[in-house]
Amino acid sequence: MHPTSKHFDLEPLTDGVYAVIAKEGGVAGSNAGIVDLGDRVLVFDLGMAPQGARDLISAAQCVTGRPVTLAINSHWHPDHVLGNQALPPATALISTARTRTLIAERIPAIIAQRRKETSEKLGELHLQLQNVDDPEKTNRLGREVDFYRMVMEDMPGLAVRVPEVTFQGKVTFHGPARRVELVTFGGGHTASDALLLLPDDQILFAGDLLFHECHPWLGDGDPDEWLRIYNAIEALDPPVQVIVPGHGAVATPEALAALRRYLPVLQRLVDDLHKNHGTVDDAAAVPVPAAFSDWQEASTFARNMRFLFERTGANHD
Ligand SMILES: [Zn+2]
Repeated sequence: MHPTSKHFDLEPLTDGVYAVIAKEGGVAGSNAGIVDLGDRVLVFDLGMAPQGARDLISAAQCVTGRPVTLAINSHWHPDHVLGNQALPPATALISTARTRTLIAERIPAIIAQRRKETSEKLGELHLQLQNVDDPEKTNRLGREVDFYRMVMEDMPGLAVRVPEVTFQGKVTFHGPARRVELVTFGGGHTASDALLLLPDDQILFAGDLLFHECHPWLGDGDPDEWLRIYNAIEALDPPVQVIVPGHGAVATPEALAALRRYLPVLQRLVDDLHKNHGTVDDAAAVPVPAAFSDWQEASTFARNMRFLFERTGANHD
């Protein structure tokens, strides 16, 4: 029996390797990975909150029989690093040098902002709950309150732990059970994105370089670089067979093709708007194209359209 958590589902990929898939309503916030090297255990990404990360760390120990001593941050985004605090102090926390700098520079202000926003949001939800009598809406608001209460629980002592070990290019971990490569091809989703490759198992933990059936947030990175990194992933030898995305269900390399289709569709919509003297608000109001209408995180589509509209405008000026 695998340990259960309200924050994530544990999905075994092969002996000693698990995808940790975030559950709606929990505070994992993003996917993670557990890899047993045979003498040490590594976790890839720590999620959006110490509560979820504590469950992740105990689940890793439970399924491998070994404590976590290595941990990785794929990139600086808060939904992947705010769980860092839950790591045992002796665990080595690793990221690219650039990601370390971005975490140290940006996360403290984000924590302060979250603290303020979360308590405001809870106040708002309580007000709404008092004025609603539709049972379905009451239930939905109740679930939202539960979620923000959970987020709030971590807030008083929340601080970010900054990675102590940095790398550039590639670092390889050799264990009796397997060899694991922590690789960066630069940045696409952010200024610096790291991937965890298990060459013998043909498994890749992609962090947010892959969103699976979920709108990818483009605005903090460079879409052209993103596709260049896909070329590098597709050129891996031996090829990858299973990819664990940062958001969404476990995927195969075919999921990379979906992002290759996504970008030009959005770009064409934005180019048409520029041609017809549209505004950035027009870009944000475009409905989600049918091909992506069943993807999660639909609100990201409008943010992506704004980003691409402004980026393309800047290129034209
Ligand atoms: Zn991200």
